[in-house]
Amino acid sequence: MRYLAVIMVSAALVLSAMFAGCTGSKVSENAVPEDSGENETGAFNLSDFDLSKYNATLPSGENIFNDITLYSNLYGVRVVGTPQHDLYAQDMLGRFASYGLDARYQEFSGFGATANKNVLGFKWGANRSDWVVFGAHYDTFATAFGAYDNLGGCAAVMEMARVLSKYNFTKTLVFALWDCEEWGLYGSAYFAKTYKANVSFANFNYDCYGLNYPISNPGTGEPLMHNVGISSKGSKNSSAGISFNSILMYVADEMMKIPKDLQSFHNPASNSDHASFGKSPVAYFYSDPASYEILCYPNVPLDTYATFVAAAGGPDPMKQGLEFPVLYSYYCAILWSECGFSAPGSAEQEEADEK
Ligand SMILES: [Zn+2]
Repeated sequence: MRYLAVIMVSAALVLSAMFAGCTGSKVSENAVPEDSGENETGAFNLSDFDLSKYNATLPSGENIFNDITLYSNLYGVRVVGTPQHDLYAQDMLGRFASYGLDARYQEFSGFGATANKNVLGFKWGANRSDWVVFGAHYDTFATAFGAYDNLGGCAAVMEMARVLSKYNFTKTLVFALWDCEEWGLYGSAYFAKTYKANVSFANFNYDCYGLNYPISNPGTGEPLMHNVGISSKGSKNSSAGISFNSILMYVADEMMKIPKDLQSFHNPASNSDHASFGKSPVAYFYSDPASYEILCYPNVPLDTYATFVAAAGGPDPMKQGLEFPVLYSYYCAILWSECGFSAPGSAEQEEADEK
């Protein structure tokens, strides 16, 4: 009975949510570029790169799960301008600083009573104008507790910061918690607009994720997809390194051995913060549409800690669903930083190149 009631209530409420911020996952299947893991001259091969030193500390689904558990209870609804919203931002700024990152707020105004702020942590690399941005929005919709949308994504970014901050890299890494996504991607758009004149970006975006490969839908038993939105821009290959999308395919096939029929790489809808990075390479992690997401549907009161755990099929599958995309993007980010081609100029430069 309870489930049926939940389904009927959620169907009614989902209709009302369909018109708000980042609604549930939509996909449009487009051709995915063929890639080989080599650059166009074959002079560079990803399998030659030694990743062993980065296995000392790996991202943990347990840590991500514990973060969701803690902050779901500590700071429920985190709407722009509320004390919970600001306290969460403050806590995360402190954690970035505790990882030794260059931690700061990026303030901008225009929404709600108080100044809006992105929470940023910089790990400066040898190349200070080529940035790898790991982002997730921390604001919620007014009627949602936001465990699924989007404490999970924020916890993924914090876990990436914890492990990647232990190493030095060629590219600069930026860990970002975006504000005002639910109002229209304003935080990430402000960030991209501020820096794009002098910086080139690649973006890893986590939003409404965790109900995906390697777990199954607890209702149907169907295995879920490794669901990643990518951009055709990421296919740009070069003699100076390997394309972003090559790296995504290589890690999926060669390193993590994800069955081909459980891989879904596609051009994503522009309903989340990756869209602010326009023509940059992106990897957008969100749940498989065939998951039980309806139980914890975004932007409605159903989005709670308990329903997120139920939609995953319990704490253990939830930890796996949260860990896998983060472990996958951990390896992708390292290979991109150390083997990926380095766009010398800015985003404008690239656009100019295309003209
Ligand atoms: Zn969201």
